Amino acid sequence: MTVKKGRPRRKDTARRLFETEESTLSPASLPVKTLAVREAVVLAGEQAADQRQEIADRREDTADQRQEAADLREEVANLREKAGRAKAELSARAEAQLREANEQLVIATVHAQTMTEAAEQATAQMAYMAEHDFLTGLPNRSLLTDRLEQSIALAQRHGTMLALIYLDLDHFKHINDSLGHDVGDQLLQSVANRLQSCVRLSDTVSRQGGDEFVVLLPEVKDVRDATFTAEKLLKAIAKPHPVAGHRLHVSLSIGISLYPDDGKTVEMMVRNADIAMYHAKKNGRNNYQVFTQEMNVRAIKRHAVEQVLHHALEQQKFVLHYQPKVNLETGVITGAEALVRWRRSDHRLAYPAQFVSIAEECGLIVPIGKWVLREACRQAHAWLKDGLYLGQIAVNVSAVELHGKDYLVGVCDILGDTGLNPHHLELELTESGLMQDTQQTTEVLHALKGLGVQIAIDDFGTGYSSLSYLRSFPIDVLKIDQSFVQAIGGDTDDGGDAIVGAVIAMGMSLKQRVVAEGIETRQQLAFLKTHHCAEGQGYFFGRPMPAEKFAAFLARNRH
Ligand code: C2E
Ligand code: MG
Ligand code: MG
Repeated sequence: MTVKKGRPRRKDTARRLFETEESTLSPASLPVKTLAVREAVVLAGEQAADQRQEIADRREDTADQRQEAADLREEVANLREKAGRAKAELSARAEAQLREANEQLVIATVHAQTMTEAAEQATAQMAYMAEHDFLTGLPNRSLLTDRLEQSIALAQRHGTMLALIYLDLDHFKHINDSLGHDVGDQLLQSVANRLQSCVRLSDTVSRQGGDEFVVLLPEVKDVRDATFTAEKLLKAIAKPHPVAGHRLHVSLSIGISLYPDDGKTVEMMVRNADIAMYHAKKNGRNNYQVFTQEMNVRAIKRHAVEQVLHHALEQQKFVLHYQPKVNLETGVITGAEALVRWRRSDHRLAYPAQFVSIAEECGLIVPIGKWVLREACRQAHAWLKDGLYLGQIAVNVSAVELHGKDYLVGVCDILGDTGLNPHHLELELTESGLMQDTQQTTEVLHALKGLGVQIAIDDFGTGYSSLSYLRSFPIDVLKIDQSFVQAIGGDTDDGGDAIVGAVIAMGMSLKQRVVAEGIETRQQLAFLKTHHCAEGQGYFFGRPMPAEKFAAFLARNRH
């Protein structure tokens, strides 16, 4: 702002004078009054000049203000321009950010969608897997249980029947062990496909696990519908299975239970079909059996024995009896066979025929066999330490034990723990036990042989296996089954003499010791001696006896 100049203001005085002159003086009186007029004019002129000055000042002020306003406008314009630029810049940036945010939102949405789909798919897959068998894709035990429950409810409402068919592959373990798990798995898949092709869509074929399958027939008129299907399944499975370049042959054991006759609940139906299947196995396999109440009675008995055996093992209710083995030439005791007995709660002894096969079926033979081996080795070591002569202590080994995991390790541990020299141990195996899983058996037998343990074949001649194993397995002893020995010199010509003679000759040529079991008579002994049988065992020399009695027996025979 410009500062105003401070000229004295005479306007009001001049105007007053002039106004006074005009109002009081007329033109005629001018010459008279000239001085006064002049004075007034001068005054007026001064006043006018003042006013002009003032106007000029004001103009100048106005110009200044205008300039100021112009400056301000320019400044505002500049600010506006700047603000405009900033705004444009900001909005461009905001737009870019928005675009980016939108893009990310789209990506996140797509991602979330994909994740939701994946989660849904995983949930569906898990639900499927929870109800189906991984290997064959068949319904599993849980889905079968559901369907069986529904079928029972429907059959109950409509008064109809249904059948449950329990199937187990015969000797599947052989295939698995000899050809490997891959081939075993492919065979199971092939079996699953065949089973499915034999039944209706409304029937359920399920895999229970391992080599066990169950077929549910929700609509049957009578037992013949079920047996007809069972026959169809047996035939279909018996045809060779082309698997991994092999043509595999496999058979089935089948058990059938019917609703409502054989069971009114899922558990009962499954259990009774399983019991019937077990009877089919006992019946020579490759057949079917329909459940009967009588089977149940036997199963209950078997179950009871199983329970008692568990208890006997915990309470250490097993004892060993020892039966001498004798050199037939010299009569000297060459060793003993340890035979297990179970002392029952009434203190009577139970013999192996009453419990060994049940113990094998339920797997209890493994801990029982371990106990037998440890006790026999401990006892033999104690007798040897006492100076009693004992060539070998023979221990019976079940096929279940031999093919179980870590059998070899178990034997080594027991020998180490008891301190028995392995040369004093002889393991008795049966032909059927040897013929299972020949590859693994050969390895285990060679390892045992390497330790110095003797291997014997028990009940020789009763198995149906090939004799070629006599060369492939490291066998030291052949024990001729007592049935042949007891046929020696019999009235009927059942070939006892010829078989015993042939086995002795064969053993001699293969450089194996031959032991004749079950010698009861002098006549049998004479026959064996003439055929140069090396050793014998039987009531003729001594029955199986408790440890203390056997120690006395050994002491008497000291030489
Ligand atoms: P094994 O190994 O052939 O044993 C011989 C069986 O014949 C024994 O029966 C024995 O008492 C009997 N015996 C011996 N001499 C004669 C005789 O002159 N005449 C007659 N009639 N019999 C005789 P045991 O003790 O009842 O054993 C039967 C089978 O049970 C054994 O046959 C063996 O296979 C099995 N066993 C015994 N102990 C065990 C064991 O600890 N573990 C396993 N896995 N099986 C065993
Ligand atoms: Mg034996
Ligand atoms: Mg025997």
